[in-house]
Amino acid sequence: MTTTTTPVVAHTREELKAAREALPSRDVAVVMTMGALHDGHAHLIRAARQRHAHVVVTIFLNPLQFGPKEDLSRYPRTFDSDMEICTTAGVDVVFAPTPDVVYPDGDPGVRVAAGPLGEVLEGASRPGHFDGVLTVVGKLLHLTAARSAYFGQKDAQQLLLIRRMVRDVDFPVDIVSVPTVREPDGLAMSSRNMYLTDSDREVALSLSRALRAGAEAARLGPSAVRRAAREVMVEEPLALVDYLVLVHPHTLQSVPEWYRGEALLAVAAKVGTTRLIDNAPLHLGPDGGAIDVFSDVPHARADV
Ligand code: AMP
Repeated sequence: MTTTTTPVVAHTREELKAAREALPSRDVAVVMTMGALHDGHAHLIRAARQRHAHVVVTIFLNPLQFGPKEDLSRYPRTFDSDMEICTTAGVDVVFAPTPDVVYPDGDPGVRVAAGPLGEVLEGASRPGHFDGVLTVVGKLLHLTAARSAYFGQKDAQQLLLIRRMVRDVDFPVDIVSVPTVREPDGLAMSSRNMYLTDSDREVALSLSRALRAGAEAARLGPSAVRRAAREVMVEEPLALVDYLVLVHPHTLQSVPEWYRGEALLAVAAKVGTTRLIDNAPLHLGPDGGAIDVFSDVPHARADV
């Protein structure tokens, strides 16, 4: 029989420090979230748990990464069920601060600048978003003093920028990525799926269908991938596409027709009132296909 212990909950910096210092080992991994936890988060936590003595989960709805017209005020808040998921997944400490704990002097005057990689794709639609993300990720890395931090491939551009920040300014932490966890029908799990009506949810399936169609054309090269994915989205006019792109996974620049190798097929679309994103890492070439999605196993392995 496995026993589960309720995690220690820390709301302040002092409580977090005390909880961290009470852990028997310094081998701590952090999983950063905005709450409204689902199986994708649980998978990240379990991947961290397998490799480290302790796991700290942060639950923080970071105002800095939301634009004035975005969904901060209606973002789902489900602390009790988040705690259940953290308990079952074996989390040691949950750090759930309020904005005044994270930003005691108000909006920070000094922020981490994401640079050009933060201005394309999500950054083009959400100006300043990645500066807000990197600033809070930097602060939470310092506050938790974690050795490793686990992030989902679901937010591929975020993951890329966090890796760049850690390399560019030498954070002493390993960044580990975990493949996207999907519903059995292919929809990428997301806290924002809670906003979808039944009919929205049907429409939302077009995103993963488009990625799958693109992945199936990966052997034929970039234009075949783009065409296959676009055809699926065109058939679903209720999904308002913001972008559907095939880019290099490190530069996020469109790959030319001659290109073979790793690429990222990424989509963002508005379904009803909800903006959804999804992506598929692909290998373009003779034995091409999806790298870690749409396998027969819905809960893909962590690439650790
Ligand atoms: P969020 O709470 O949406 O900010 O996500 C917190 C972390 O969970 C980020 O590293 C996300 O990339 C990751 N995540 C969110 N959804 C999924 C998913 N479906 N599969 C794997 N990781 C995910």
